[in-house]
Amino acid sequence: MGYDMDRFVGHVNEGLICCICRGVLQDPLQAPCEHAFCTSCIYRWLLQHNSCPEDRQSLDLSVLRPLYRYMRNDLNQLQLHCTNKDRGCEIVCSLESIDSHECDCEYSQIPCPNNACPVQVERRNLYSHVASCEFRAHECPNGCGYIILGPDDAQHNCVAELRTELELLRSDIICQMEDKKQEMQSRLNSQRRHMVKKESLLQKDIEQLKSQMSKMMSKMQDLMATERQHRQELEQAELGKRELLEIMKNFQKDSSSPRNRSRKAPHSPPPARLHTMKLKIGEATAL
Ligand SMILES: [Zn+2]
Ligand SMILES: [Zn+2]
Ligand SMILES: [Zn+2]
Ligand SMILES: [Zn+2]
Ligand SMILES: [Zn+2]
Repeated sequence: MGYDMDRFVGHVNEGLICCICRGVLQDPLQAPCEHAFCTSCIYRWLLQHNSCPEDRQSLDLSVLRPLYRYMRNDLNQLQLHCTNKDRGCEIVCSLESIDSHECDCEYSQIPCPNNACPVQVERRNLYSHVASCEFRAHECPNGCGYIILGPDDAQHNCVAELRTELELLRSDIICQMEDKKQEMQSRLNSQRRHMVKKESLLQKDIEQLKSQMSKMMSKMQDLMATERQHRQELEQAELGKRELLEIMKNFQKDSSSPRNRSRKAPHSPPPARLHTMKLKIGEATAL
């Protein structure tokens, strides 16, 4: 449907008027015969006819084209009143921008945003309507905390409401506690497992250390025995050495006295004794 002629300010060229609805063209299309129509008007016409409504020349959807550019420009520049003129809007603007104005027009009727509310209200009055709309969600005036969603809800029982709330809270807390308990239990179990593992590892370490220690002890005992033996041998060697020195001293004394300058030395040691002495000296120097 085209725009109502009464809304326009000044003269409207005949070529910009729909041949079907006689209003000013809305979303215009043009036939090859240059007659122009609103899109919705000509679509509806061609459902039952196959000719131009103005001159009866044959016509179908496929030959319809957009309006000539100069005509489109003329159409867009036409000045018209806002559709809400009767409610008080005094805006007059070009056809091109009328849609965007009407989308924001303070006088446009819009539905209340509260779901069940049937009221249509002018945009400029929306705020005050919503503030007092009986379908608005608002807290119970008795202070129970319940959100009243509509007139059917207004007579609710505050005590019952609080009781339900309390029950919900209680079950919520119980759930949370149960969760916490299970979490702690599982944490404890894993710690316990960890400790057991650690303990067995430590036990193993202790066993190892014990066996190492006993090995070392037996080694030490061996070493001590060897040392004892060495010390005994050293003492014997010392004894031998002292004995040998004694013998040598005596020998020197004997050989230096004039009386004994004969070939035979009466105190010369027998060969067997000399041999053992040599052995002892050898042992002593080896130590
Ligand atoms: Zn029309
Ligand atoms: Zn025609
Ligand atoms: Zn307006
Ligand atoms: Zn409302
Ligand atoms: Zn209440």
